[in-house]
Amino acid sequence: MTDATLPADHVHWQEAVIERVERQTAGVKSFLLRPQDWRSFRAGQHLDVRLTAPDGYQVQRSYSVASAPELEGLYELVVERLEDGEVSPFFHDVAEVGDVIEIRGPIGGHFAWGPEDGGPLLLVGGGSGVAPLMSILRHRAAVGGEISTILLYAARTWDDVIFREELIARDAAEADFTLLLSLSRDTARRPQDVGRRVDAPLLEDTLARLGAAPRLIFVCGSNAFVEAVTGHLLDLGLDPQTIRTERFGG
Ligand SMILES: Cc1cc2nc3c(=O)[nH]c(=O)nc-3n(C[C@H](O)[C@H](O)[C@H](O)COP(=O)(O)OP(=O)(O)OC[C@H]3O[C@@H](n4cnc5c(N)ncnc54)[C@H](O)[C@@H]3O)c2cc1C
Repeated sequence: MTDATLPADHVHWQEAVIERVERQTAGVKSFLLRPQDWRSFRAGQHLDVRLTAPDGYQVQRSYSVASAPELEGLYELVVERLEDGEVSPFFHDVAEVGDVIEIRGPIGGHFAWGPEDGGPLLLVGGGSGVAPLMSILRHRAAVGGEISTILLYAARTWDDVIFREELIARDAAEADFTLLLSLSRDTARRPQDVGRRVDAPLLEDTLARLGAAPRLIFVCGSNAFVEAVTGHLLDLGLDPQTIRTERFGG
């Protein structure tokens, strides 16, 4: 067992410096963290983040790593601002380049992919749920190997699509990768996208585009999104053993 798969308590807390902050969308920012002790990880894993107030009050949350293990020395986190949240508004309104936060990980065993797991891959993300899928996509491109992959990504509008430029560039440049956008409150801008929520017919069309049964399906987003998508996938007869889920809450 490697460190990356050990239970959370076996991974030590350490300090990480916020090296860069990038606005992704109106409600989402990326944070590039440089920890004292960077360790490699499986694409799809997450970090625990711990904040401590001057009076000693501590709060802890998990954030998926969006960067690939190839970005040595740094972890990229994607944080969506929740209006009534405790930690995500801190990241958006308070945290600055040069600040130090505590992290632990990367950790998490089931929601992870490496080239040894093979493909084809169906990735289904809702909102900030695209974060660990981005790590998988980036890692997949870095290791090569022609693994047929579709990312079906649900966002409210075109402007809410996190990593939009990079995803569209990958869609154009990588022969084995297809991006499909499902915009629930917008019209589709590209012929392959749709202006509605992810539903069973859309998943059925997406599976048909993949050409072969997916070896693994990764579904990530809010509880409601993951519930709805996995329900549809099971109704469509997909093998539950092939479906991996990560729930962000809500
Ligand atoms: C393994 C894992 C990985 C995660 N990765 C990411 C990530 O990459 N990016 C990211 O932005 N978040 C991610 N999350 C969610 C994150 O850990 C926090 O829960 C989130 O940032 C809210 O924290 P908060 O302190 O701002 O809000 P809280 O104070 O915890 O919650 C405020 C209110 O928002 C509700 N709420 C909490 N989470 C959600 C949600 N996802 N959608 C809608 N409502 C919600 C709560 O029920 C509560 O009512 C991940 C969670 C897990 C378990």
